[in-house]
Amino acid sequence: MSEEQPKDVDTDEQDLNHQTDERAEKTEGKERKKYSFNCLEKECDNRVCCTRPIINVTFDDISRWTTQKVLPHIFHALTFHVPEKDGDQLRIEMAKQPLKKDSEKSACILYNEENNACRIRYSRPISCRTFPLQYTGSKFILSDKTCPGIGKGEVTKESLKEARNIAEQEFKERINTQTALPGVYSVFTTHMLTQSMRAMEGLSEEDKKRLQEILSKGKGQHEKTDKESSE
Ligand code: SF4
Repeated sequence: MSEEQPKDVDTDEQDLNHQTDERAEKTEGKERKKYSFNCLEKECDNRVCCTRPIINVTFDDISRWTTQKVLPHIFHALTFHVPEKDGDQLRIEMAKQPLKKDSEKSACILYNEENNACRIRYSRPISCRTFPLQYTGSKFILSDKTCPGIGKGEVTKESLKEARNIAEQEFKERINTQTALPGVYSVFTTHMLTQSMRAMEGLSEEDKKRLQEILSKGKGQHEKTDKESSE
């Protein structure tokens, strides 16, 4: 399965690989500036994390939320992205909504615009925890170079190791989810279809007729709206 590439890729990928590698200090000289990051949280003035185009969710995120017993509070924010064109992928992601202060932009539905904070800060998806560092399977890249947290915070062997570990873990979880999701989605939709057919079977002839009328009215309304919007 092809791996999705972030739109904004660091131009200096090779350098970033050294910057995130604690061993580079011995091989590349001490003067090289290492990758460091510290989320500015409420003080962040651009929230590129919460307004990024795709906010991926993995099966492991869902599993962690189940263990932490927070899934019921997050479930409404999850959505399936169904491929619309070639090269597009089925994925689970955070739903988004327009920002009140700038309706041209949209943000994660769990972003609290009033206090500039994530509503699930301590349970956020792994894709948010690794942001803006991302592992592609062979190298580390910055998925967004404008994040103001880049270059902040201390550089220690532990912090570099932790950043790399989270990015590698996110890569593993993302690939596993991409691999398993089409099968899970197909089981899920087949189940829904079977349930609807069963529900239909239980209806009286009169109710079936009424349902048909409602559906055909709805279809007519959609066609009218499509026609109007294309004029
Ligand atoms: S889950 Fe939280 S950190 Fe991640 S994009 Fe949504 S609001 Fe931002």
